[in-house]
Amino acid sequence: MSLQDLKWSRRCRGELAVYQPSWDSNVLSAVSTRQGGASSLPYDTLNLAYHVQDEAEKVEQNRERLTRALGLASAPWVTLNQVHGTKVHWVSKDNIKAFQGQNMNELVEGDALATEDSDLPLVVFGADCALLLYYDAIGGRIGAVHAGWRGTVAGLPSIMVEEFIERGSKVQNIQVAIGPAIGPCCYPVGTEVVNAFHQRWSFADQLFTSEEKECNEKSKNMVRFDLIKAIELQLMEYKLKPEHISTLNMCTSCAEEDFFSYRRDQGRTGRHGALIMLTRP
Ligand SMILES: [Zn+2]
Repeated sequence: MSLQDLKWSRRCRGELAVYQPSWDSNVLSAVSTRQGGASSLPYDTLNLAYHVQDEAEKVEQNRERLTRALGLASAPWVTLNQVHGTKVHWVSKDNIKAFQGQNMNELVEGDALATEDSDLPLVVFGADCALLLYYDAIGGRIGAVHAGWRGTVAGLPSIMVEEFIERGSKVQNIQVAIGPAIGPCCYPVGTEVVNAFHQRWSFADQLFTSEEKECNEKSKNMVRFDLIKAIELQLMEYKLKPEHISTLNMCTSCAEEDFFSYRRDQGRTGRHGALIMLTRP
């Protein structure tokens, strides 16, 4: 069986617009937009995260709307208390309780979820950090990752690949769909970020630019960081096929109608989400 090249597309699912990777029907996957929800400013409108001071009932309604739009049964989502770490949590029907609920303090800490079980909707949240979805159609494994610069420099995108391989995946069968993230147009960084990448990754030279771009006056003349490229190059260093990596290529800060952006909105904003679920055992 040969795998098709991976692509993203924008689709209407019920009342909501979502972005979806071109995967087969054994997996359901989508990135939400901020449109079509119940939340008010500054969480307008489809905020999916409880921890951002939005009203809990609104968040609940928003999660239900997305769940319905995607045609999921209303099983609770599998989520994490995201902490910019590097641990991958394997979830099964036996340990799922620790990953469910509204209270962040009661959720397991981490930034990467994986499973081999069907009907467990893994969800990671973001507002500038990259959201990555992993799928091995042959091995029957999926994963979801939240990666900002800290998780990326520490190797989280490739740690998930290693975990898949440890469980029996072949690297040539692993596909990664890289969702929205803040782009190099809008992501000025300090020397700690530049130095951290140079210390760890041989391709660090390719990740930073100080060339002018019209897109954002504020970050003109500053060193700007390409988070998506850092993830792509890391995955290719771990031998993923380029045609099995697909980037949505939308900057969360520029795409104001579709995505929340922590930087653009100076910290007071909602979270969009990336969801993936195996639909068959
Ligand atoms: Zn931008």
